[in-house]
Amino acid sequence: MKSKNRKFWSGSSRFRLILTLELVVMLPAAALIYVNFRHVKSIKRDKVLEATIHRDFQQMLAISEKKINQKAYMMTEEVRDLFPSPDTDTEWEKSKKLDLILSKRPWLAHVFLFDREKGLLFHSRPQQLSDRYFREEHERLAEMFGGWFGMQAKVMVDGMHKKNRPITWYGDRVKRAGGYAYMTNAFFTLPWISKDRVVLGGLSVDPNYLKQTFFPEMLEDLIARKFSEEGGNRLAMMVYPADHEGGYGDELLAASAGWKEGKPEVSRNLDDVFPRLALGVKFQGTSVDALGQRWVEQSFLMLGVLSVLLVGGLVLTYRSVSKEVALARLKSDFVSNVSHELRTPLSLIRLYAETLELGRIKTQEKKEEYYRIIRKESERLTALINNILDFSRIEAERKEYDFRETDIAELVRNTLDTYRYQIEQQGFTFDQSIDSSIPAVRVDREAIARSLVNLVNNALKYSAGERFLGVKLYRANGVLKLEVVDRGIGISRSEQSKIFEKFYRAGDPLVHNTRGSGLGLSLVRHIAHAHGGEVEVESTPGKGSKFTLSLPLAATNQQPTNDAA
Ligand code: ADP
Repeated sequence: MKSKNRKFWSGSSRFRLILTLELVVMLPAAALIYVNFRHVKSIKRDKVLEATIHRDFQQMLAISEKKINQKAYMMTEEVRDLFPSPDTDTEWEKSKKLDLILSKRPWLAHVFLFDREKGLLFHSRPQQLSDRYFREEHERLAEMFGGWFGMQAKVMVDGMHKKNRPITWYGDRVKRAGGYAYMTNAFFTLPWISKDRVVLGGLSVDPNYLKQTFFPEMLEDLIARKFSEEGGNRLAMMVYPADHEGGYGDELLAASAGWKEGKPEVSRNLDDVFPRLALGVKFQGTSVDALGQRWVEQSFLMLGVLSVLLVGGLVLTYRSVSKEVALARLKSDFVSNVSHELRTPLSLIRLYAETLELGRIKTQEKKEEYYRIIRKESERLTALINNILDFSRIEAERKEYDFRETDIAELVRNTLDTYRYQIEQQGFTFDQSIDSSIPAVRVDREAIARSLVNLVNNALKYSAGERFLGVKLYRANGVLKLEVVDRGIGISRSEQSKIFEKFYRAGDPLVHNTRGSGLGLSLVRHIAHAHGGEVEVESTPGKGSKFTLSLPLAATNQQPTNDAA
């Protein structure tokens, strides 16, 4: 499964590249552009939104004022209908009726009746008259209204008759035990008496009632009504003195439960029933500004994340591209190397076989030399094909090892024996040191022999000046070591780790003039790992190399690890 995938990927690296580019670069980039675009668009929309919210708030306040006024008018009209008649009632009856009104309507502070012919009757809530401030207020208002109505009542009555609902309002600051408070007073005509009579009724709404009952109830009701009609963010409302010099103790006169603190988003002066007061509205727990701010923060966060993705994508793409390019180069080198490697021994074998077939070779010695060449070249061919087969099995993750109890000293000796002649033929000094006392170990014989052949072949191939080959088998700290030493061209430090990668061949010119596939060492490493061991190199350029295959003496029976790929 994995190997199929790998083949698929490496077989279509262009496709993979395009896909990678599209997924990790183009997509975030496109998203970034899209988000930016939306960003700009919604900034505009945000302004529109803000204006819409404000307009909506204004409308709500207008409706709210109307509702508040309506309630106040209604309450006042109800009281007015209970008022004594200036013409039919006796003075005693008038006073009695005014007191009755006060006792039935606890929200009233004062009620009064002015008749130009008979003067002013001014009644205050009797229970409160023991309070110094209230008594002073009673006296002040009685005097003030008495004088005022004496001069203005005719004008006021005429003016009121022109109105739909003949009531006018007067908002006032009054002093109470707890400080200043807001009080509103209503003046009205009595509809059932002749319009020529100059008669005025009036009442004063108790400041405590306004602050603690009337406004809070109204505000909650207005908010609940708005929410049930339209839903959305819950609102908060408040009533506060419009002119701050008013100073009614604190900034707020009354507020809905959700107000907490802050300034109203939109406000409106309550001019009619509650002069000098204003009504304010905002969102509960947030503001239009905060909504905007949060939105901006979210956008920046998103932009940040997208930018990181974009940069990450670019880095990934770069790495993937350079890896693909390097692998592609290695592969093309491999193909040309292998075809060359296959062709050369084959043509030699053919050439010598044909020559022999023609029977032109007379001397026995010459014939034997030709046979030897044919054998040597076919051995080389076998070794190469074995390497390629092993490699493809490893790549396909189908490589299996056959672990058996083995006398490793004998295995090494036998393998070297088949090469001894060739080694000495090529003018190599061969130094062999094998510790025969090593106990039997469980290894795959063919694999170990192939590793040794690969290492020995490399030593032979990459020796230019001094021709020396040393093979040593010994034990050290419970580890079995197989060393292959040469005094050849050596390997630079930077290339020492790379030579174990598949297809890799060093940059040295001698290497490029020597046949090879770049597979040998990667196989050796795979075999070492499969046995639970390791292969290492020590090398100095120009001086030679030492490859050491280490295998654990105990428990060498390992599962294949497939990591040569
Ligand atoms: P190749 O078929 O090219 O020999 P290998 O995997 O066996 O492939 O070796 C990889 C590379 O390691 C070689 O191309 C060579 O550059 C370097 N190398 C291996 N063995 C030696 C050695 N004994 N001395 C110098 N270089 C070596």
